[in-house]
Amino acid sequence: MEPDRKTLLALRERYDSFYLYDEGEIIRRTETLKRAFPSAQFLYSVKANPHPLVLKTVLSQGFGVDAASPAEARMGADCGLSLEKIHFSAPGKTERGIEAALPHATLVADSVGEVERIGRIAQCQNRTVEIGIRIHPDFPKGGEPSKFGVDEAQVFQSIPRWKALPGIRITGIHVHWKSQILDRSLLERYYESVFSLAGRVSDALGRPLDFVNVGSGIGIPYAGGEASLDLSALGGTVERLWEVFRQRFPGTKLLLETGRYVVGPSGVYVSKVLDKKVSCGKTFVLLCNTLNGFLRPSLARLIEGAADDPAPCEPLYTGKNAIQVYSLSQRQERETVTLAGNLCTAADVAARDLSLPRMEAGDLVVFPNAGSYAAVLSPMQFSSQTPPAELFRTRTGEVVEPHR
Ligand SMILES: *Cc1c(COP(=O)(O)O)cnc(C)c1O
Repeated sequence: MEPDRKTLLALRERYDSFYLYDEGEIIRRTETLKRAFPSAQFLYSVKANPHPLVLKTVLSQGFGVDAASPAEARMGADCGLSLEKIHFSAPGKTERGIEAALPHATLVADSVGEVERIGRIAQCQNRTVEIGIRIHPDFPKGGEPSKFGVDEAQVFQSIPRWKALPGIRITGIHVHWKSQILDRSLLERYYESVFSLAGRVSDALGRPLDFVNVGSGIGIPYAGGEASLDLSALGGTVERLWEVFRQRFPGTKLLLETGRYVVGPSGVYVSKVLDKKVSCGKTFVLLCNTLNGFLRPSLARLIEGAADDPAPCEPLYTGKNAIQVYSLSQRQERETVTLAGNLCTAADVAARDLSLPRMEAGDLVVFPNAGSYAAVLSPMQFSSQTPPAELFRTRTGEVVEPHR
């Protein structure tokens, strides 16, 4: 659901470019997830959008935190979450980061060396900590090298040694294959494989796991014509599979991560037309803060054609035609324009040769699906422009801008 025209036009008086995140929409999307997966507990992937009011809203719905850095783990703790609800999982954690996060987060080790590093640091703090292992599984395709997690075979080789290692106790697994999947049967097969892997890890450890974190994967439509996932059908399958798992391991928790599903469609990016000119027959509409305010459209122009398989480019690039944009101009007449930004680089182009209602300086264009991997990915320091505001509309319709 996108914000109404009147709200956006009113904000134009105060801002030349801004994000607007919608509390009501975020809450509706968390409710949809909870209805579809009644047995799961959710972790919000903060890196999608760490805006304090967005975070507070998602956590108010019972979500925990999937932290990709010690600072994100800290944000979860500052919101009052307990250690079980904050999972810090990332490759290449610093020693300082491990030390800082251990008191308030559940750490998920990303390599064989990191298991030992965490054990050593926990011992220095005179503690034994419960940790997860991020596993790079043999499915859906085995044998593909990855910088994430520990290869499945290495996990089973290492378990006898890990069981004797002081400072740590392995109580969970984390598997995250990839983001932005819209193929339901693919996801269903993937979850089934994760549950089977979890059973084998429990057997090897000789005790049930506290948690199985299946990661994310739930995608959202970006390109026009793309269909949403049928979440209730997907959830139904997951419930059935989980029921079977629980017959053997009734005490294990099912964790599901998501960033973009809850916040992506809950935000828009809005930019003001600053100028317009014709050069050698082409009409340029110059917008405020494109590449430096919302990077993804300009990046899509740069990558399109070069990327055969877009999956490894997430969340920087999703695929062809994944960027939508519309104008709030209501003029009948249309024109073909290139949407460029106000930076001193020619790479700053959000769309080329697009047919839109005729625009003049002061009009607004709107980019939907800008609630996730948008503000956080954009190089706002570039050329020291005034960055876009990040605004939040509450359920009562009030628009607020928190002080960072
Ligand atoms: C980024 C990330 C997510 C979130 O992915 P979305 O597509 O935003 O849901 C989840 N888990 C891990 C490990 C991630 O790196």
